Amino acid sequence: MANYQGLTQDGSAWEPEFITEIDQTKCIGCGRCYKVCSRDVLNLVEYEADEDEDDDEYDDFDDDEQRMVMAVANAGDCIGCVACASVCSKRCISHSPLNAA
Ligand code: SF4
Ligand code: SF4
Repeated sequence: MANYQGLTQDGSAWEPEFITEIDQTKCIGCGRCYKVCSRDVLNLVEYEADEDEDDDEYDDFDDDEQRMVMAVANAGDCIGCVACASVCSKRCISHSPLNAA
């Protein structure tokens, strides 16, 4: 099955990749992705760890300390530009092409 394809202004093929999820165990809540997204897809939320989650990366944080992480709030508004992933230093944003079938 083919993926959805668009065109750039000069007519070259371009395949958008739409946001699927953010790994909140890696996210540091820096907000860089939020600032580059022109579509209001993202939103900062309070992190809620799973009880059995391995949170070694955040051992410096007190268990009761609140931390904010990015979440996908309006996935349907994503245009697949991948700008958010390109500015994320933690590589925690996943994208996927859209099936055109
Ligand atoms: S791919 Fe583009 S439109 Fe979609 S969430 Fe990221 S920055 Fe926003
Ligand atoms: S750029 Fe990456 S680390 Fe920063 S808030 Fe967005 S997802 Fe989290």
